[in-house]
Amino acid sequence: MPDIKDLDGLKARDSGATLLLSLVDLLLIRTTVMLEDLYPCKNRTGRYSPMYNSPPRFCPGCGSPLASQYVDVEERDRLVCTACGEIHYINPKVVAGVIPATTGRIWLLRRAIQPRYGTWTFPAGFMEMGETVEQAAQRETFEELHMDVRITGLLNIYSRSESPTVLIVYLADALSEPIGGSEALEFASFSPETIPWNRLAFWNTEAALRDWIRSL
Ligand SMILES: [Zn+2]
Repeated sequence: MPDIKDLDGLKARDSGATLLLSLVDLLLIRTTVMLEDLYPCKNRTGRYSPMYNSPPRFCPGCGSPLASQYVDVEERDRLVCTACGEIHYINPKVVAGVIPATTGRIWLLRRAIQPRYGTWTFPAGFMEMGETVEQAAQRETFEELHMDVRITGLLNIYSRSESPTVLIVYLADALSEPIGGSEALEFASFSPETIPWNRLAFWNTEAALRDWIRSL
């Protein structure tokens, strides 16, 4: 049995370790709160989206540092310039996509880029300034497959509160055969029965393809 001196030593070490753990906990909690203040979008695993891993630190207007600050009229924290007071908004970005169809089949491509390299999806990409969503969808289709499409209607809009993107997907007729492009490892046409469900790129890829099947 240890003598009283050893017990005191153990207690001292225990309390030191407990204090250290408490400090670590405090730091972690504080870090989490700060991150949640600054970057509202987490993915389904609870980690912050890669889009917000490098948030802006400086004001695009005057170059001064940005800080998280509660904005009364909006009743939430925003990134606010410490010099000119400009509010820097972090909002979801619009992704435009097309499901190109021809005689009951659709064209999909296998991604040659990250994220989700090697998985199947339909042409889609971020909307640019100076174009409509429809134009963005057609442009992305041409860039990724080098094929022309005629949009026939809106399929659906896909969003999740934790996602930094809003996906807008159109149905379209394929006006030409795809040639492919640098963002596609390969491409192929699929019937509803042959869609590679377990090798799709994103949750909204699957959701849109299920909507396409329901629309038939
Ligand atoms: Zn500024």
